[in-house]
Amino acid sequence: MRDVVIVGGGTAGWMTAAYLTAAFGNRVKITLVESADVGTIGVGEATFSDIRHFFEFLGLAERDWMPACNATYKLAVRFENWREPGHHFYHPFEQLKSVKGFPLTDWWLRYPTSKRFDTDCFVMASLIDANRNPRYLDNRLLEQEFVESDDLPNTIAEYQGAQFPYAYHFEAHLLAKYLTKYATDRGVRHVVDNVVDVGRDERGWLSHVDTAEHGRLAGDLFVDCTGFRGLLLNKALEEPFVSYQDTLPNDSAVALQVPMDMDKDPLRPCTTATAQDAGWIWTIPLISRIGTGYVYSGDYIDPEEAERTLREFVGPAAADVPANHIKMRIGRSRRSWVNNCVAIGLSSGFVEPLESTGIFFIHYAIEQLVKYYPAADWERSLREQYNSALMNVMDGVREFLVLHYRGAKRADNQYWRDTKIRTVPDSLAERLEQWESKVPDAGTVYPRYHGLPPYSYNCVLLGTGGIDVRPSPALDLIDEKDALAEFQAVRDKARHLVRTLPTQNEYFRRMREGV
Ligand code: FAD
Repeated sequence: MRDVVIVGGGTAGWMTAAYLTAAFGNRVKITLVESADVGTIGVGEATFSDIRHFFEFLGLAERDWMPACNATYKLAVRFENWREPGHHFYHPFEQLKSVKGFPLTDWWLRYPTSKRFDTDCFVMASLIDANRNPRYLDNRLLEQEFVESDDLPNTIAEYQGAQFPYAYHFEAHLLAKYLTKYATDRGVRHVVDNVVDVGRDERGWLSHVDTAEHGRLAGDLFVDCTGFRGLLLNKALEEPFVSYQDTLPNDSAVALQVPMDMDKDPLRPCTTATAQDAGWIWTIPLISRIGTGYVYSGDYIDPEEAERTLREFVGPAAADVPANHIKMRIGRSRRSWVNNCVAIGLSSGFVEPLESTGIFFIHYAIEQLVKYYPAADWERSLREQYNSALMNVMDGVREFLVLHYRGAKRADNQYWRDTKIRTVPDSLAERLEQWESKVPDAGTVYPRYHGLPPYSYNCVLLGTGGIDVRPSPALDLIDEKDALAEFQAVRDKARHLVRTLPTQNEYFRRMREGV
């Protein structure tokens, strides 16, 4: 299994090439072929906090790659108007504390010390309201409880359960460029050409791809990173696609790249998802521009209306910026690994980017590929375990996303009213009932690894506000003193950090100046 051919040079292709090189060095020969004619998707700028393990695995420090990718910090997703106009809440990168065996959110339902569960239960919420940076100007990380690794490299698996306090925003095409250099410097062969045919042997396994100008590229293992096209897995091997559209109907997006001046405009340290009439708009602050886009369902509005809404939302800064209209394939390939072909990225599966899970899926898939890497006997069980892991991660995230819509209090038009009656995945229906009388915990969320801990479900359930959640009856019988002290500790810590941490603008200005 020494000869790997990766088809596609978007985020998925280059992340895979770079990671495999870091994992296997020159014991594996890697060729990446990408088309100059077929563009990349051109979006995908917000990440999960686990992404730091990717960079650490590659041996890259923030100062190496962040400036090259116009990257900023992300402490949370901020949801605006999902409950009602003017309301916002955060899903921060911060684990929830427990007092006497009950999560702080449960105590908050019984003793709501203010109207905001997020600022009462999480330190990060106040930091983001105040546009704070997670690091001090001398680069020290804010004092939060998390595990910072010192023995590199590491993977998501080793740190499951530990919550690092931030993720990143970056320009996807700059990251691909950065990783191109990383991978080719370490021996990856880079072919810029169109794959025009995919060859199969008598068993139906892939034997080679034919390119227009570079002839035949043969290999042992083929990685399909061709995006929504699924050129190898879905087209050549005819692996079916399992659509999630019945539960997640948003199937389109229109995106803009809006110039921004970080000397004037505040850099909010979070991704913002603002609910709209037929979906929601993302706002991602980068060093020199804002990435923004409207994710919507084509059943409710057309692309022209979506673009008009997005331009009105952004205002005059969007006037001369071209729009990128994207049709999205929502769901997953039935199996991501078939015979000797593994699909990674959009070809494997995709859900709308509400919780920035696209790059997380890629990162997780690459880690699993290394974990289950085959030998010459192509042991079937390795493929099956890989496929289960990928299926679980995507099906789990689907449940989590559906909760946002089912939970959203707003029901002011047909789109939002339909979110309350649309089918939900079977097991979620049962969980929703359980959560009405007990906030989500490890026993009642999607049981297999999907990157989202129970506290994430607590945030969305309490933040969206459409589902009536009751506190545990036992809390009436337990002394509340310690819980109230914990709320006070969260407030005190937040006040201290807001006072002492710099803004993102201050921090990145220093980084840009190389201080
Ligand atoms: P692509 O970027 O589409 O790349 C496909 C590659 O295949 C290209 O290099 C192309 O040249 C090549 N190719 C295709 N056909 C051929 C051929 N015949 N021969 C040779 N090469 C070929 N993820 C996040 O984590 N966070 C986000 O905020 C986020 N936002 C998103 C917003 C939207 C609207 C969408 C649609 C996605 C978003 N994603 C996000 C997902 C993220 O963009 C993708 O997961 C990521 O970019 C990976 O894309 P890819 O590399 O699989 O595919």
